[in-house]
Amino acid sequence: MVKTRKSDHILEITYSCVRWFLVVATSYLFLNYYHKTAEDLKLFCSMFVGAILYMGLTEFALHRFPMNSFFYRFMTRFGVVMDYFAFLSILGLTGGTHSYLYPIGFLVILHASLYWSFRGAMVATGMIILGYLFIGYWIDGGITAEDYPRHFMNVSFLLMIGVIGGIIVARERKHFVEKGIFENLAKQDYLTGLYNHRSFQEHMREIIISRRPMALAMGDIDYFKKINDEHGHQAGDAVLRMIGDIMDTLIPSAEGRAFRYGGEEFAIIFYTNDQARVTQLLQLLMEKLRMQTFYNGEETFRVTMSFGAVIRDQGQRKSELVAAADELLYQAKDQGKDRLLWAAQTV
Ligand code: GH3
Ligand code: MG
Ligand code: MG
Repeated sequence: MVKTRKSDHILEITYSCVRWFLVVATSYLFLNYYHKTAEDLKLFCSMFVGAILYMGLTEFALHRFPMNSFFYRFMTRFGVVMDYFAFLSILGLTGGTHSYLYPIGFLVILHASLYWSFRGAMVATGMIILGYLFIGYWIDGGITAEDYPRHFMNVSFLLMIGVIGGIIVARERKHFVEKGIFENLAKQDYLTGLYNHRSFQEHMREIIISRRPMALAMGDIDYFKKINDEHGHQAGDAVLRMIGDIMDTLIPSAEGRAFRYGGEEFAIIFYTNDQARVTQLLQLLMEKLRMQTFYNGEETFRVTMSFGAVIRDQGQRKSELVAAADELLYQAKDQGKDRLLWAAQTV
């Protein structure tokens, strides 16, 4: 699915303005220079009404519907097809292949490339050239030898716009995808796949600024040094990866987000101040880890974690919140590990 981006939206609005301009230009040209028969006028009037209705609906979709709604997507993608038929009709009404409005074909090709990249540009170019030849035979009354150079150049320009436009859009799309990949890499921890420390700091700041309720849990693996010493660093890494997986699957994205804070320490931000719910999720997580058996190639072992958790008070700063959760984590370690500690009680 090709998602609509903000820049695509701006381009759609531009296309919409261009259409209004072209309706005026076509009407002016037709009524002043090409209006010959009553049949022509009838065709022009029905096309005019159709164009206004279609353009009105498009304006409605662009300004009243979200960018990824079905209606918005349908009207903008379908717009490419509508523009193609408008191109044929406009040429038919304003002098066939001699029409001053023939470059509308360029706009249609570029519009198709916006959604379907290079392949879209090529298909649109083929369709426009076929349409152009069709108009040449049926409206011009045939393609004559003395007109070959003009047709040759017109078709060549259509092809050039198609190929160059398609390449430019395909290149821009590739950069956009790569940018997304690099942005994700910058936020992700390589080993666990969780969000990293930098992302933790940013997310905390966002939530504090938005004044949403929040709870923070800091977690640390118990006896991890011993695990590394007894079972090797690779087994230690496997433990970190498994904890990343468990956190990722157990914490619904609507309720919170887990981070590798550093080394064998994790942080979880919950978007709630409901202590019971946070406790439930953390206990589930600890239980799942307790049940997990790890294997170092020779023997199996088990792992536990300790947590300190706090609900954010109004006005509490980021560093104060982390320090408070950290302090509780150390108390949990002091009290025997494998437990969750809140400020006032042990759960
Ligand atoms: P406690 O129960 O009190 O938390 O003790 P601990 O042994 O877990 O704590 P300590 O902080 O002494 O040890 C943390 C160890 O975590 C030391 C370090 O070698 C190990 N560690 C940190 N990052 C990684 C990593 O990415 N991979 C592996 N395998 N080990 C790591
Ligand atoms: Mg530690
Ligand atoms: Mg530890």
